[in-house]
Formats: sequence, C-alpha cells, structure tokens
Amino acid sequence: GKTQRLDKFLSTTTGLTRSLAKKALHRGEVSVNGVVEKNSGRQVASEDQVCWLDQPLVEVGLRYLLLNKPVGYECSSKSSHHPLVTDLLQDLPALERINPVGRLDVDTSGLMLLTDDGQWLHRITSPRHRKPKVYRALLAEPLVLDAEQRVLEGLLLEGEDTPTLPAILQRLEDQQVRLTITEGRYHQVRRMFAALGNHVQALHREAIGDLWLNESELAPGQWRELTQEEVQQLG
Ligand code: URA
Repeated sequence: GKTQRLDKFLSTTTGLTRSLAKKALHRGEVSVNGVVEKNSGRQVASEDQVCWLDQPLVEVGLRYLLLNKPVGYECSSKSSHHPLVTDLLQDLPALERINPVGRLDVDTSGLMLLTDDGQWLHRITSPRHRKPKVYRALLAEPLVLDAEQRVLEGLLLEGEDTPTLPAILQRLEDQQVRLTITEGRYHQVRRMFAALGNHVQALHREAIGDLWLNESELAPGQWRELTQEEVQQLG
C-alpha cells in the first residue's frame, strides 16, 4: 500500500506540528509495530501499528458532518451550563478536531454542519460566501402586514447602522414563517423579528444553500456524513 514519512503520519494523526512530532520521535515516544522508532523519515504503511506514548494512532480523513441539532445544545466550547453539540458525536475518533461550522443558539434546532477541515470551515463561514440559510420560526405575535416588503428592503437591527441584506419571508401558517437570509449576524433571525415588533418563540434551521435537512432521515441529535457532492456544492 501507500507509505508516508513517520513524522508526517504522527503530525496528521495527533495534530502536533511537524517539528513537535520530530521531537516526540527523538525522545523515543513513538513505536512502530512495538519497536521504538526515532527515525522521522521512516516510511510507514497503513498496515503498520504506530503508537505515540503507547496510544495507537489511526489515520482519519477529513470529515464533513450534517447534524440535526436539538434544542438545549451549545456550539461553543466555553459553556458550563449546556451539553455541547460535539457531545452528540461521541464515538468519532479524534473528536477534538471537529468544529461546528458557524453557530446556532442554544435554543435553536436544526441543520448544523461540523468538520475538521479548517479551510472548508473558513470558506463557508466567510461573509463573502453568502449561501442562503433557511429558518423556520414560530412567532409570538401575528406578523405585521408589510413584513415581507420590509424584510426584502432590509431591516435596521437594534444597535447597528447598516440594514440587513434583502431577505425572503414566507408565511406558512398561523405565526409560522420561513425566512431566508444570506448573512450571519449575531442572533440575526431573532433580531430581525424583534425589529418587526415580534418575538421568536422557536427557531429551526431547515437549509443551507441547496442542502435541506431531511427530518424523517435524521431525528434531533442524529447526524450523517455529507456526500462528496454535498461537500463540494457547499464549499
Ligand atoms: N439567527 C438567530 O437568531 N439564531 C440562530 O441560532 C441562528 C440565526
């Protein structure tokens, strides 16, 4: 099979920089098939059992996940009050390398992307990316009559001085609406409805770009890997 240098293998499987990987090798912390190996240029193949500090190292490719985020889970890792969305991925190897792509509020549910591909993550979260994001919201009050027009023209959010980009608002049923935006300002959807004198009671993300969450395929808390086509279309 394909072989690669031991220092490169160590660095991609552990997240150590190449120079720290070399140092770990020189300290005698790495073994190949049970024998300590200090030569960083040693070629290893996938059949070889490589250990660092007695832990077997497994090579994982880049991962791209679609999660149906349940309410009550937090995207950032600073929280002490709520479980993290990454807690839902428990059995994945090298879980610490996987990050949410953008944020959903604790009390927002729905489509969430996660990845360990930093470049893809940055492309998708870049303000230039402008992929439509589709949200379904349950409102506390009946929607004002001219809401569609005002959302299309752009709303001034409290504390900001540039209006939101044109967005599309659809009435679904009684105080249920669908909003499509192409930006990602802080709490944007909730603040847009606040600007319309309303209040969001429940918020659910249905889609990013052409990727829709299929609720009958993924129950809240469940996830799947994206297909290669989905990864390419989004990025
Ligand atoms: N807008 C919000 O207000 N909250 C979210 O979680 C996502 C978009």
